[in-house]
Amino acid sequence: MAKPRILIVEDEPAIAETIQFALETDNCRTLCVSEGRPVPELVQKEAVDLVILDIGLPDISGIEVCKEIRKRSTVPVIFLTARSGEIDRVVGLEIGGDDYVVKPFSPRELAARVKAVLRRTARPLMEEGGNETFSVDEKRRKIFYFGQFLELSRYEYNMLRVFMNKPGQVFSREQLMDKAWDEPEASMDRTVDAHIKNIRAKLRQVRPDVDPIVTHRGVGYSLKEQ
Ligand code: CA
Repeated sequence: MAKPRILIVEDEPAIAETIQFALETDNCRTLCVSEGRPVPELVQKEAVDLVILDIGLPDISGIEVCKEIRKRSTVPVIFLTARSGEIDRVVGLEIGGDDYVVKPFSPRELAARVKAVLRRTARPLMEEGGNETFSVDEKRRKIFYFGQFLELSRYEYNMLRVFMNKPGQVFSREQLMDKAWDEPEASMDRTVDAHIKNIRAKLRQVRPDVDPIVTHRGVGYSLKEQ
């Protein structure tokens, strides 16, 4: 398994360094920032696997940061808090945190929590369909790719859902139109190709090194099995 990439958001350098050292010793890669505002964008851009998020940040509360992250990403978040009284808010208000650690804490304990949360969240929303690469929030019609929200048009969403339901199965253009379009029109094969092209471009923005959609010449398309 590749080394998980952990984003540490902590404004106290001594604490940040301690966490960084503990995690790198524990086979993780780390990235540190001391302010909250750039975090949601960083999570998107840097393919972060988990965020350690201090609540008391100089520019914006860690709780607000988490809310922003949750608009676009399912990345696990572990809160750091100086006051145990804050825990109720973090957990009770459904802000979207996955765990919390109260300061002062042992770096080894935090590293163990990181591993536990990564294990627990490795297969998000499996029961709702999808595989390790893709996950879906059916109610909100949102698809996540490597934990990142994909901005999809209606038909792009529908087509990806068709693939996700049957990884490995090859669908002809006609079958895709039939399943993804409300009113399938005749001989619109190239429309399917255009949508596949758009979906691939959006997937590449998240992970340029992966191409999960397979073209079967003269037949159709499928989603790679994991
Ligand atoms: Ca702080």
